[in-house]
Amino acid sequence: MAIDLSVLDQDQLVAATAPRGPVCILAGAGTGKTRTITYRIANLIDQGMVAPNKVLAVTFTQRAAGEMRDRLRVMGIGGVQARTFHAAARRQLAYFWPQIAGDLPWRMLDNKFPLVGRAARAAGVDSGKDMVRDLLGEIEWAKANVIGHDDYVQRIAGSGHTPPTDPSKVAQVYRLYEEGKRSPEGMLLDFDDLLLHVAAALENAPAVAEEFRSQYQSFVVDEYQDVTPLQQRVLEGWLGDRDDLTVVGDVNQTIYSFTGATPEYLLNFSRTYAHATVVKLQRDYRSTPQVTELANTVIGKAQGNTVGPKLELIGMREPGPQPTFHAYDDEPTEAREVATAIRRLLDDGVPAREIAVLYRINAQSAAFEAALADAGILYQVRGGEGFFQRGEIKEALRQLTAAANRTDLPDDPVAVARAAFATIGLTPTEPEGAQARERWQALRALVDLIEDIVQSQEAAHLPQVLVSLRQRAEAKQPPAVDGVTLASLHAAKGLEWDAVFLVGLVENTLPISHAIKAGEDQVEEERRLFYVGITRARTHLQLSWSLARQEGGHKSRSRSRFLDGLVPELEVENTPQRLKRNRRCRVCGNPLDTPAEKTLGRHADCEPDYDEAAFGALKRWRLEVSRAAGQPAYLVFSDATLLAIAEAMPADEPSLLDVSGVGPVKVENYGADVLRVLDDYREDN
Ligand code: ATP
Ligand code: MG
Repeated sequence: MAIDLSVLDQDQLVAATAPRGPVCILAGAGTGKTRTITYRIANLIDQGMVAPNKVLAVTFTQRAAGEMRDRLRVMGIGGVQARTFHAAARRQLAYFWPQIAGDLPWRMLDNKFPLVGRAARAAGVDSGKDMVRDLLGEIEWAKANVIGHDDYVQRIAGSGHTPPTDPSKVAQVYRLYEEGKRSPEGMLLDFDDLLLHVAAALENAPAVAEEFRSQYQSFVVDEYQDVTPLQQRVLEGWLGDRDDLTVVGDVNQTIYSFTGATPEYLLNFSRTYAHATVVKLQRDYRSTPQVTELANTVIGKAQGNTVGPKLELIGMREPGPQPTFHAYDDEPTEAREVATAIRRLLDDGVPAREIAVLYRINAQSAAFEAALADAGILYQVRGGEGFFQRGEIKEALRQLTAAANRTDLPDDPVAVARAAFATIGLTPTEPEGAQARERWQALRALVDLIEDIVQSQEAAHLPQVLVSLRQRAEAKQPPAVDGVTLASLHAAKGLEWDAVFLVGLVENTLPISHAIKAGEDQVEEERRLFYVGITRARTHLQLSWSLARQEGGHKSRSRSRFLDGLVPELEVENTPQRLKRNRRCRVCGNPLDTPAEKTLGRHADCEPDYDEAAFGALKRWRLEVSRAAGQPAYLVFSDATLLAIAEAMPADEPSLLDVSGVGPVKVENYGADVLRVLDDYREDN
């Protein structure tokens, strides 16, 4: 079956149809790099220039590998190996191990943490959790940079890299860790060892190299700007003195420098292979001109020595809506407004799987998970685990459960939580060290959530707060649902959606505080991360930030420096009037004072205009229904909708349909039930 190359443009075609040999595609986001290499592989095979099982394509994630195999299969091409560096190395090592290590058994090390912890203790280094994690990260970084424990001290001197503690101590922990993996019973290998052993075998064992190279002839690497020196060494081992290598990448999307990744190999490719076919792509087929224009502006401001070649994107799609910029007073409001905008898109027919909310750090997902849940919108968290699956959050809930059994604690659940979490990392100010910081941010987000629960009067005392938290944890998505994606910017690499919401665009989050402290190079990497985020959008792009963390809280944040000059100040849309109006009591109409009242929407002593007991009856009914159906409660009705029903107390279907948040489908599914609950309630009272 012939490959239909007419779906490629002239430049893509040059790369796809170049004969076997070195090819480099250096191009911006959305210009079809991944598409082009897929067609190149298909075409080489179709033309009989290489057999499918002699091609090895390397992608950055398992998901991308799967997608490439799928696309090739659709074109009638099976049998191509598409894997990540690690997955490929693991297979190869399993195959070649007897030749290089005889019958010495090996297995993968599932968890490095205990081994590094033991090494830290033996070396007399602080062996607290966070330090161990940082040491672990440092060892990974060193290995990715092909730095051994014996040359660690020398190599990092003057490298600009900051070790987590005294370098000679790190080197000692590193050495003890490596030794700890060896025993007479066999070897434990971590992920980087896989790569190291494969590279060493190809370099030192001629028989292994020969067998491997006769098997694999043609190599393709996607996202080559983020290759580490260790991965590059493996790649060179695979190639030997051959040059049948296609690489694609975008220097402006280098976002993994912190792991040791570097765009140098991509930039030097045409020097390494003087006869390489080099292709530049500029036409962006993913995004509207409105989106690409913003992307060009953002990356055009890049500074310093990490600036990539000037690659201006040319938007090829039909014009679409302008990206919009929104400033909100606080984060819960931002999250709610994003949920509202998503609801509008869904109503307009944009499928949920074509919508993404992207943020800088995983802890930011909490507010957006809550708002989407309240709005009854299905979502899935990509990359990071869901908020409640995080280790420190589980630990925090255990602490809270223990606290709930004590009688000597203050009444205020927020105060109890703060005190309980102080022992597991919630220091008064944000700590140093990547792991400690991430833990701290997650714990702080949990305290915020507890505060929300108390303020909204969902629960007043710790035991009820725990019930609410557990319900939220259980309301987790069944796997593989067709929902809105929540993902960090790092996890969004290479992907695309019709609508993208870039949220939480404030200083110290994007750019992240430790990047600001570290200096210009790191701030530039944050700018590239912003660029990656913008270029994920096909049509709809909404950028937002909020000035306070808490509803009614102190506006201590400022919007991200990356937004400067992108929008004329006046065009920035502030918290809409509609929300401002909500800052008035919905019973007496006068302004509200405390954050608690604002969440509640009325003064504490103004008689509510809905029947709280009816609301309670509706909630009990909802719990039964959702349990029976095995689905999260919010998918039946959100709290806000139940409240609105309790307020309206409809007696028939048409008036139920009038309630905001209740559509025909809901009436069809639950209308009779809801009316019956309200009838029973009226009879009883
Ligand atoms: P990134 O830098 O984000 O990884 P990329 O350069 O790999 O992007 P692709 O994902 O290959 O870009 O392509 C972006 C989108 O444009 C995809 O939806 C792809 O199908 C589409 N596309 C690519 N080339 C063409 C073309 N010649 N005609 C129409 N659509 C195209
Ligand atoms: Mg790509």
